[in-house]
This record gives sequence, structure tokens and C-alpha cells, in this order.
Amino acid sequence: MSFNWARAKSVNLLLSTNLKNNDLLKRAGIPESWESYLSIFDDNKNLKSQKITDHALLKFNKNEETNYKPESSIIIEFANTDFSLDGIVKFAEKYGRLGIESSFDFSDSYVELANTWLWELANVRNVLSLITHKQNLSVDKFSKLLKIDLGTGLWEFENNRSKTNDVNFPVYIFPTGNFELGFDKELIRFKENLNTENMSQVIEDILSVIFFNFYRDRVKPIISSKENKFTSEVQPVSLIGYIWHELFKILENNNIIRNCRYCKNVFTIGMGSARSDKVYCSNSCVVNGTRTEAIFKRYEKDFQKKGYYIRKSGGNTDNQFDYWLINKYNVLIGGIDIAQSQISEFSQKWDNQCKIIESKLNANNLAIAFLINKEGRKYSFSYASTVTGSFIENIPDISIWDEHLKMFSEYLKYKKELEVQKKALQEMQKIKESFLDNLQEDLTIPELKYDIKNNKEVA
Ligand SMILES: [Zn+2]
Repeated sequence: MSFNWARAKSVNLLLSTNLKNNDLLKRAGIPESWESYLSIFDDNKNLKSQKITDHALLKFNKNEETNYKPESSIIIEFANTDFSLDGIVKFAEKYGRLGIESSFDFSDSYVELANTWLWELANVRNVLSLITHKQNLSVDKFSKLLKIDLGTGLWEFENNRSKTNDVNFPVYIFPTGNFELGFDKELIRFKENLNTENMSQVIEDILSVIFFNFYRDRVKPIISSKENKFTSEVQPVSLIGYIWHELFKILENNNIIRNCRYCKNVFTIGMGSARSDKVYCSNSCVVNGTRTEAIFKRYEKDFQKKGYYIRKSGGNTDNQFDYWLINKYNVLIGGIDIAQSQISEFSQKWDNQCKIIESKLNANNLAIAFLINKEGRKYSFSYASTVTGSFIENIPDISIWDEHLKMFSEYLKYKKELEVQKKALQEMQKIKESFLDNLQEDLTIPELKYDIKNNKEVA
């Protein structure tokens, strides 16, 4: 297969709220484009039910495009994209538009809705997690995503992990609807509770539904003939088609999917590969991962003795700590970071290090953190107006945080209320602006034309 695509030299991020009423893009109908996309790719109305008024848009300049041939690993890179505007813009700058249906095709540019990108990403990531579930066959874990009604045999699958600050992107699938009409296959009805056998079957069904929706219409057959012999192969019609095509190949080839133990990114291992026990995605992750774990292992027992429970972080964004701290009520209270350097309060970069910890605390609404450096110097950080680490000789007993955590939860309540008020104010501001916008349009005085002969006004 020879699939080629083009990337634009620059990608601009626009916000629909900032567009003027007479902007070509606004007139082209952004809400209608979103509706039309959802009518194809959101069968179960997960997103339709959420009212989205502001849209972020990716604009790709048509001039100065560069042609390239994507590598098959692009699927893994797409899946590892951070679930945020920042994440997709970075991907867009590297690979160009996705070629998503119901996008805008203007004379000088293509424009795609950021939410369509995020919905594709949510579904791609869900497929990879389904394949992982199918490989591990852990009934306990998967049963959290699947509701079964033994009376009717019906089931509902819901993966609610992909969300931004404003919108949830839950993948929800149940065994009814267009799928059976368009595809001659009955989906599984449960006669008994989830077990390894029917789990494998239901995952196959869910995957079939997803590929039916996202893949089927994004490839076309290419027919060729040579020396009286005809052949055909399928070829993607867009970059998003290529991504789904490569995702399908992972399934088809039974590749093993794993999350890197250090950076948490997804990586694949070929079936029957000699290195099927790989836990790190790259050589640099082998080095960093082994070092981090070695440093942490030295102090793990100390934390446990002082009443902390510890969980290894499962995410891979900048906002995640290496380890999470949990109290005896199973409540997340803080995080631990391991530095592979000798960073200390005497280092030039110390202020910066404190800022990193502060932003992690902020992003996760947490009150306490620890930092351990390569030499085992330990620092504690607690949430206050500014966050600076203080050197500690020993890890303190968990109970010393009780008062601090109580105050922090009061502060969180207050913060939430403020956010609600701020949102309400923003809404009012928007209404005011659109009112003024419309007013200006209505107030342009129409030119009066006077028909002298008939002595009357002409409309
Ligand atoms: Zn890695």
C-alpha cells in the first residue's frame, strides 16, 4: 500500500467565540458541522447530549504543503497524544490535518473541529485498552466497564476515561441499533455472569462495532491489473483512515499492547517476538525507569511505616507524580516525585523545581508532596499560597498532615464556588457581546432609494 498525505506548514488554533459574525468560517456553520460529524460517528449520542457552544478549530493553510508518507507507527504516536488541545495541536503540526468528514474545505485552507479530533482519540485509546483487556482477560477489572442484565441478556459498555476540562468523551456501546441492520451479525446476549470466555466474546463484539463505525467508510479498494491478472487492496482515503487501518492491523496481527513502566506510553510487541517480556518502550526508558525505581525502593518501607499507602502512577502527562500517596480511608492525599539528579535547595534550578511540584499539586487538587533526589535527600511540600520544599531528615508520620488537609478541603470548596461564579459571569459577558454584535448589524441604516416618477419609496 502506498498512502501519501500532506502536512501544512503552519497550524492555527482558532476559537469559535472569537470569530466575528461575518467571518466566512462562522457563516459556514460550525454547530452544523459538529452535528453532521456526530450523526456519523456518535451513534449512541454520548456527545450529542452535551451542549457544546464554543468550538476550538484547527486551521491548516493550503499553501506551502509538504507531501510525506506516514510511518505505520503513527497509530502509536496518535494514541500517546496528550488528551488536550495542546496535545492535538502538536500532532497536527507534525502530521497535518486528519481529513475528518464534515470538516471545512475553503479555497485557501482546511479547518477541522478540535472536538472531532478528541473523539477520534478517545475511541482509538479505547480500542487499545479493549485489546489489552482481551489479552489479560482480567474479569475483575473489565467488569467495571460492563453492565450486564441477566434477565434480558443485554449489556452496556462504558469507558469514561477521556475528558477535557469542559467536555466528557465517554465511549458507550450497547447491543442494539444500526450495527445489526448493516452487518449480518448478532451481538452476544449474556446467559451467565462475566467470565473469561464471554468476556473475550463481548470485547470482540465491541471492537467490531467500533471498527464498523470508524474504519469501514474510510478506506476504498484500489484495483490493478497486470498480465491478465486482477488484484485489489484497500487504501485509506485520509490520515484518520490510515490511523484506523494501522490500528486494525494491530488487532489482526495479534500484537501485544503494553504501557511503558516508566513513561506510561503505549507500545506494541509483535506476536511471537523474542522480547515479549519487554516492560519499557525504549532504551532511555529502561535507564530512567530502573534508576527511579531503585531510588524509590530505598524509601518505600519508610513511607509505609509512617502510615502512607503508595500507588505507582499510571498516567504519562506532565501533571502526574511518579507515585501517589493514599491514606487509610483510600483517599488520594498527595504525590511523590523522584529526581534522578542531585537537585537540592542549593541548586540554581530549585525555584523551578518547586514550581513544577506546585503545578502538579494544583492540577490534581492535592495538598502534600515529597521529592527525593538521587542522593536520597528528601523534601516535603505542602499547599499554601506559594509552594517551597523544606528539607526533611525523616519522613513524617501521616497524622501531622491532619490539620493541613482539613484546611485544604475548606479551601477546595471555596475554590469550586469561585469557579462556578466565574463561569456564570463569563456566560453573561458572552450574551452581552453577542447582543452588542447583533445590535451593530441591525443599526446599519439602509440606503433610501426614491422613485421620483412615482413619488414613492422603493424597498
Ligand atoms: Zn517509555
